[in-house]
Amino acid sequence: MSIDNTVKILQNKGYKMTHRRNEIISYFSESDGYRTAKNLYEHMEDKFPGISYDTVYRNLHLFHDLNILESTSLNAEKHFRLNCSDHHHHHFICSTCGKTKKINICPMDDIGNMLKGYTIDDHKFEVYGLCPDCQKVS
Ligand SMILES: [Zn+2]
Ligand SMILES: [Zn+2]
Ligand SMILES: [Zn+2]
Repeated sequence: MSIDNTVKILQNKGYKMTHRRNEIISYFSESDGYRTAKNLYEHMEDKFPGISYDTVYRNLHLFHDLNILESTSLNAEKHFRLNCSDHHHHHFICSTCGKTKKINICPMDDIGNMLKGYTIDDHKFEVYGLCPDCQKVS
């Protein structure tokens, strides 16, 4: 998802793109993977000394509610990343650094056949493990 896109989504819902919100989006767009609320807060504190955790947290959840960010649970903690708005795909997620890699096939193509007569609203498919860089460290 591009920054232009997020500005549009915010405006459609009556929210302004502020400096702080813009910084949150830049942070996630440069992260290339999943980050926690704490990771984001530490980054925001550097850029806006004295900013409250509450402000960061509220904006994080606003973005999540607006589907600008998607979330997953990694190591029992909630992690966020920019929603991939392009063509449908899934992710490998590194459980150490949060980096993601696209998986361009969808298991639902096969599973759909096993659920004849059922309606499917949504699905989630994620693969967890260590990325090549994180394997070198250990
Ligand atoms: Zn993606
Ligand atoms: Zn990794
Ligand atoms: Zn799928």
